[in-house]
Amino acid sequence: MQRLLPPVIAILVLLIPAVILVNGWISLSPWMISTLKWLPYLIIILALMICVVFYNSREFCLFLTLFCIYILLQTVIWQKLATINKPLLFNIMGFVLALNFLIFNFRKERGLLNARGVNKILQLVAEFIVCFWLVKANSAILVSFLGTSFFPQPAFINKLLGQPLLVFWCLSLLVFAIHQYTSPALLRAAWGLTLFTLFIGLNYSSQPPVTSIYILIGALILITAIIIHAYHMAYRDELTQLPSRRALKQQLLSLGKNYSIAMIDVDHFKKLNDTYGHDAGDDVLKLLATQLQAVAGGGRPFRYGGEEFTLVFPGMDVTEATVYLNALREKIANKEFIVRRQRRRRRSSSNGRRKGRMKKINISVSIGVAEKRDKHNNPQEVIKAADEALYKAKKAGRNRVVSG
Ligand code: GH3
Ligand code: MG
Ligand code: MG
Repeated sequence: MQRLLPPVIAILVLLIPAVILVNGWISLSPWMISTLKWLPYLIIILALMICVVFYNSREFCLFLTLFCIYILLQTVIWQKLATINKPLLFNIMGFVLALNFLIFNFRKERGLLNARGVNKILQLVAEFIVCFWLVKANSAILVSFLGTSFFPQPAFINKLLGQPLLVFWCLSLLVFAIHQYTSPALLRAAWGLTLFTLFIGLNYSSQPPVTSIYILIGALILITAIIIHAYHMAYRDELTQLPSRRALKQQLLSLGKNYSIAMIDVDHFKKLNDTYGHDAGDDVLKLLATQLQAVAGGGRPFRYGGEEFTLVFPGMDVTEATVYLNALREKIANKEFIVRRQRRRRRSSSNGRRKGRMKKINISVSIGVAEKRDKHNNPQEVIKAADEALYKAKKAGRNRVVSG
């Protein structure tokens, strides 16, 4: 239930500008209207460049789709003299938009400037050729299908918007909601919100500035998510989702006068890997990361590398930190970690793939901790002292905290 709250709030917030603008509570000045006409082009071009820099081929294709749709809105749908069947074009555009969000959501990210990236762009080109042909053919069957009525059209729904498209939009949002609920991911959440935003924008296509505003909001949501995602990739460890060693380096620069640093190492981890398999080892590291995140005393966890972690306690001396570290060590030692145990399938099964089975195991950690003082007065020296203390903890029999 808690997981549903942020998207519901986001959706309600997104509706606010529409309610204000459509009801005319705020009127836009002429210069604002002409700025809003060009701004989506600029933002989408910027977004395309960001996608190139961050190797986001799927988002690149979505922005390209949006770019084409915006051009069509400006040059056909919003032009009084256009001779094309506007409702047909509008509905086809709406289908292509939602369809591309769905298709690319289920395609893997494999970079942009390679054969797979080119393949995705060729898919877009093919789509637009088919659309062009469909609009030009103006088939009576297609037109009547897109205009099918299943229920009375609500007053707030755009007259151009056919009910088959409306149903398809709702279904595509449902697919995103379910996918996000079952496997949450930042980019997917942003895609879902962007799609919803674009639907609102297209619903108000009779008021071009409102559509432009929503295209801008949608593009900005996606750009922000791409940048946050790139930041996470650089500063978060992929396996444990803890801040990485690079993030630790940044943290060390901002430490004040007093702090303690602990180095944590899993005991006999190699043996665990050998006995239960590497995947089970990975599971243990993930579960351990959750334990470290819950450490009391404001300790900030980082994955230092391999099966080693670091906890930084800003403003805390080693005596106090040791209390929290001992509590953590004890909690880990008493916990049963449930992991996938690997066993090989019988020879008849395809290419010797492995099948998982759950297994409860116990682990322990050794911890070395040191604080900033005259003897070691910069973070690197404190880490070195903590490392030496960790070595002593290992030598003294493991599953203990030693301060240096
Ligand atoms: P000790 O108690 O002395 O620390 O023994 P140990 O076996 O834990 O120490 P050692 O450094 O010899 O082994 C660390 C092992 O951790 C070796 C490596 O295969 C494993 N390892 C490092 N990173 C990962 C990882 O990301 N996943 C898994 N599953 N294993 C990892
Ligand atoms: Mg080690
Ligand atoms: Mg170890």
